[in-house]
Amino acid sequence: MHIRWLPRARGVYAAQFSALSFGRPLARALMSRFFLARRVARRFVAGEKRAEVIDVTRKLNAEGLLVSVDYLGESVLNEAETKAVVAEYVALLNAVAADALKASVSLKLTQLGLDISEDLCLRNMRDILSLAQSLGNIPVTIDMESSEYTERTLRIYRTLRDEYAFTNVGTVIQSYLYRSKDDMRALAGEGSHIRLCKGAYLEPPTVAFPEKSDVDEQYREIVDEYLAAPLPAYLCIATHDEKMIAAAKTSITAHSVPPARFEFQMLYGIRPQRQHELAAEGFQVRVYVPYGEAWYPYLMRRLAERPANLWFFAKSLFSR
Ligand SMILES: Cc1cc2nc3c(=O)[nH]c(=O)nc-3n(C[C@H](O)[C@H](O)[C@H](O)COP(=O)(O)OP(=O)(O)OC[C@H]3O[C@@H](n4cnc5c(N)ncnc54)[C@H](O)[C@@H]3O)c2cc1C
Repeated sequence: MHIRWLPRARGVYAAQFSALSFGRPLARALMSRFFLARRVARRFVAGEKRAEVIDVTRKLNAEGLLVSVDYLGESVLNEAETKAVVAEYVALLNAVAADALKASVSLKLTQLGLDISEDLCLRNMRDILSLAQSLGNIPVTIDMESSEYTERTLRIYRTLRDEYAFTNVGTVIQSYLYRSKDDMRALAGEGSHIRLCKGAYLEPPTVAFPEKSDVDEQYREIVDEYLAAPLPAYLCIATHDEKMIAAAKTSITAHSVPPARFEFQMLYGIRPQRQHELAAEGFQVRVYVPYGEAWYPYLMRRLAERPANLWFFAKSLFSR
């Protein structure tokens, strides 16, 4: 299993900027590392501004790729800040509709107040989903965070899915959790729109497989079962792992799964050539494209997943 860690964005910014008062050399050193980290983040993040992610989406659409846009942020503990997040998603959805972009949006429930109250989070989600539906059913996917949120995320997902169109709202299941096969069986029976990923958080062995081989095995088994489920069950096969992609293709052929039942998904900046190859083979491919100022925890998760990325990051920090 890869090592994962989860620093908090605001803590990091606070540490970096308050360093300005500690003395100029330290402040300068920290600031230059901050700007270098930001440069590295550009490989995985479209930019800090909405206009930048819209440009990237337009370009990916023109290349035959679908997009899911994510406004970066998590663990928001102040109600007014959650309203600012809703306002950003409103502006984003309007921009997607105005340009008729082939894009869904992804979001995190702790960005929308889940740590404050489930009720606030639901109200914020309804504001976003009502607009998404009125703009022509723009799909909204609720990302899955660490296991302390799994139960609440699935509860909120089911509530909203039953209030809105099934195709309008989806969520994510992580194959590293022991519970995921049972969750997916239930979700398949309910006709849910699910993104399956391996999982990106550091989890204890009480809830998640410690061995990567078990995470992979459960991924393959879930894909195979879910693809055999009837419509409207829809599977987003979210992975960069060639072995998972090959296994999914085998299941697709074995069950004669029509294209309307699934798509492949990858993250912006990771295996872009493979994204194009899969699209050229005739598969629907969606690229998850994040943007916003809170890019630090996202960058750290991507670096933790792959030592080669960490080396790339370290070289950028220490060479000029
Ligand atoms: C569209 C999408 C949405 C996601 N949403 C969520 C979510 O809501 N919740 C959640 O917990 N996780 C999410 N993830 C992250 C996911 O859980 C994994 O952490 C991540 O995708 C790496 O797993 P992998 O399947 O690519 O396989 P791995 O076993 O990690 O990697 C297999 C191979 O893929 C390539 N690769 C993987 N990661 C990288 C990288 N960072 N840089 C370069 N190459 C790489 C390498 O060749 C590697 O050997 C999402 C992933 C995708 C693609």
